[in-house]
This record gives sequence, C-alpha cells and structure tokens, in this order.
Amino acid sequence: MSQQRQFKGPAQPFPASSTPQPPSWSPPYQGMPSYQQVYTPVPQSSQQPQWSPQTEQSAVCRQCRKELSFLDRFGFDQKTQRCRTCSNQIQQSLHRFRAAFLEATRSATFTQNNWIALQSLARQEHLDMSEALTFIGKDAVALVERIVAGVEAQGNITDEVEQYISHLLRTFLIPHEIAQHIVHRLAKAKLRLNLQLFEGMVRQAEAKGELTDELERNIYHLQSKLALPNELVQPSLQRLAYLRQQTNIQRFRRAVAQVEANQEVTVEAEHYILQLQTTLAVPQEIAQPLLQRLAYLKRLTNIRKGELPTISTSLKLESDELCHLETPATYHKVNAKSTTPVSGRLVATSKRLHFLSATRGTTISWNNIMQVEVRLQRGVYLELAKGTGNGLYSVSDPTLVGVVLDTLVQISKRQLVATKTDPSRHIPQDVKNAVWQRDGGKCVQCGATSYLEFDHIIPYTKGGANTVANVQLLCRSCNLKKSDRI
Ligand SMILES: [Zn+2]
Ligand SMILES: [Zn+2]
Repeated sequence: MSQQRQFKGPAQPFPASSTPQPPSWSPPYQGMPSYQQVYTPVPQSSQQPQWSPQTEQSAVCRQCRKELSFLDRFGFDQKTQRCRTCSNQIQQSLHRFRAAFLEATRSATFTQNNWIALQSLARQEHLDMSEALTFIGKDAVALVERIVAGVEAQGNITDEVEQYISHLLRTFLIPHEIAQHIVHRLAKAKLRLNLQLFEGMVRQAEAKGELTDELERNIYHLQSKLALPNELVQPSLQRLAYLRQQTNIQRFRRAVAQVEANQEVTVEAEHYILQLQTTLAVPQEIAQPLLQRLAYLKRLTNIRKGELPTISTSLKLESDELCHLETPATYHKVNAKSTTPVSGRLVATSKRLHFLSATRGTTISWNNIMQVEVRLQRGVYLELAKGTGNGLYSVSDPTLVGVVLDTLVQISKRQLVATKTDPSRHIPQDVKNAVWQRDGGKCVQCGATSYLEFDHIIPYTKGGANTVANVQLLCRSCNLKKSDRI
C-alpha cells in the first residue's frame, strides 16, 4: 500500500498517570469553528488515477485493485475510489475503530499504549490512519477539550501540560484552526491562573503588613518565572511599591526608637540613621519629626558630656560668668497647709542658679544642690542641703532643664566624667541589644514603640543588676508610673 501514509506515534510516552479527570463535560467553546467547516477529508493523492464517469476509461478500486465492470461503476465511491463492497467493509472498520477509540478514552485520558493499540487496530482493519483519524475527528477534538477542561479545573497549567496538549493535537491531525483555538484557550487559562498565583502572593504580603526582602525577591522571581509582563501586573506592582515604602518607614521608625532607647545619641548612631533614611528612601516629612527628636536627644547627650549651650540673658552677670539656661518656671512654694505657685524664671549660669519672680529673687549655689530629680510632665525637683528654694519647679521641658541643672551640679562638684551616674547608661550595649530583641522593640507594659527606655526591673539603687534578666523595655510614661510606685 504505497499510498498509505506513514504515521508516527507520539515521540515520547504520554504522561498517562498525570492526565487529570475532568469533573464534567465541557461544552464546545463559543466562537470555535465547527469541525465540518474546517476539516478537509483525506486529500486525494495526485498520483491517483482520476476516474471520471463521463469517460469510457475503465475504473479500478484502489482497495481491492479490481477492475470494475460498467454496472459496478454505479456503486463506485468517487471520493475514496473504492468499489461498493470495499466501501462497505471500510465503513464497518471505521466504526469499529471509533468504538475502540471511545472505549479507550472514556476516562478522558490518552496514553502511549492507547496510541499503539489504535495503530495496530488500523493495520488489522486495513485502514489508512489519516482516514481513520478523520473519521473520529470530532471525537478527538472532544477528548482534547475534556482534557483541557480538566487541567484548567486543576488550576495548574505547566509547560509540560501545554506540550502534551499540542502533542495530542498533532497526533490526532486536528485541523490547524481548531488546534490553534484550543492552544489559545489553554494559553489564556494559563495566564489567568498565573495572574491569580501572582496576585495571591502580593495579597499574602499585604496581609502580613510588611514586605520582607525575601518575600519581595520571591514575588519578583515569580513574575519572571511566569513571564508576566509588567503592564499586566501594574496595579499589583504599585501596591507592592506602596507596601515596600510602608515597610521601610516602619524599619526607620524602629531604628530611631532603638537609638532613642539607648538614651545616648552617638555620632555613629546619628550617621547610621541619616544613611538609613537615604537607603530606605523615607520621605522627608516622615523622617523630619523623628530626626528632630533624635537631634534633641543628641543635645541632651552632649549636655551630659559637659557641652553646655551659652546664651545671652538680661540678668547682670559677673565678668567670668556664662549663662547656660533661661526658662519660665513656676515654683511650688510649700507652706504649712497649702502650696502656693510662684511664677517666674529659672536662670542657670556657670556660677549659680537663680529663680526670679516679681516678688522675690532666690540664688542657689550649685554646691548646695544635693539632687536634681526630673518629674516628667511636672517639672524639676531640687533637693537642697540648706536654705530656701527647695522643691518643685514646673517647666515646659523638664528633661532638658533637669539635664542642664544636673550637669552644672556635677561640674561644680567636679564629678563630671564620661560615664554618668544614671545607671541606665551602665547597661552594656550587648545587654541592651538582647533586651531590645527579646522585647521586640516595644514597651513590655503597653506595647508602645516610641519614647522607649531601658528599665531595671529591680532598681539599680536597690541592687538590681545590669543583666538581660533584670532589664526591660518600658515607654517613658509606663516607666514614670513605675517609679511613682516604688
Ligand atoms: Zn474494492
Ligand atoms: Zn508603656
């Protein structure tokens, strides 16, 4: 049978086990060309002798090679060039072939073994494979569609699945137009599923409220792996960029809070924070208030080291006297039965402390001050060895006033050294870091993340140690409440 085309089976075994079972039969897709529209039946070979009923030439059945008598010619199938007997036989064979195909593919799978079995059946039945495949064309399309519906429902269209489908389309000689339609639909479904996968990952990051470097890498990796073009995922990428910015701001805030908690702003720490602002691209309007707070803390740090600001004052000073602070203050004068507020101003100079009001002027020598105690939101409490002026002075910035006064007392008593009396500054940096990690950069009482301080659980003055176990993070207000209790 020289005119019989040589058919090659699938080049590689079909992934039989992985072929999914579709949950239901899927109807033909809208807009798909019908099988009849596009399917051209077995082309007549050009080598085939052209038989024409008009001529007196003799006709030969191409199946049985029998020369046909004049009468036989009425049963002759012009399309297939077969005699009536052969035509009937072939028809029966084709129906058996179709039955075998339908039986083999009932569960919407098609394997290498199915293909081998169909080939051998075609040989047995003396069927031309392309004619047999033409005969079952619609069934083959339906099978491929069921398989496609199955993988779509499974939600995982891999390159292998795509190759498998293309392979089936070629194997069954599905006409190009229909095959293209199926391939196109599969590609569309794949893109839709990939977009869902990508979007799911972006949502996952959003739900976390934080875009870790790892998650960000994974998301961009997925985008390139799935070959999703930027313009298709633009809204997701924008949300991702927003999340990245929010994450950076959070990181920046945490870093500032950690420096603040150390209560000593070093030049290195300041550089680090400024660099971080650039690296994380923190907008100026967000960074500004945090940097101002840091600058304030740095000022306090410098004052503690003895770098006192020098300011001008209306007060008449001695020739070698410098003014370091002048601030409105209210002195709470304690009488036998009540407290009288006296408003005036505190002026701290290199030589002494003045409290000036409309009715009185008190001068306190630095050596006379036993203790400067900062009472947040209230003022500075001065404990004097003797004389008047003992008590609470309300000021707008108790911390700053307290540090200036305390430093002047220390200088006067020649006690100013690099490390200060505040026990929190004796906590070793590695202990601070460990406590920060353990407490998650939050106040252990209320969860606040700003104005944090390292607090001795058992106070330093009562023998509490500078250990991780005895140090905790408290915000300033919780710390204040605690010191009120003790
Ligand atoms: Zn014949
Ligand atoms: Zn708190």
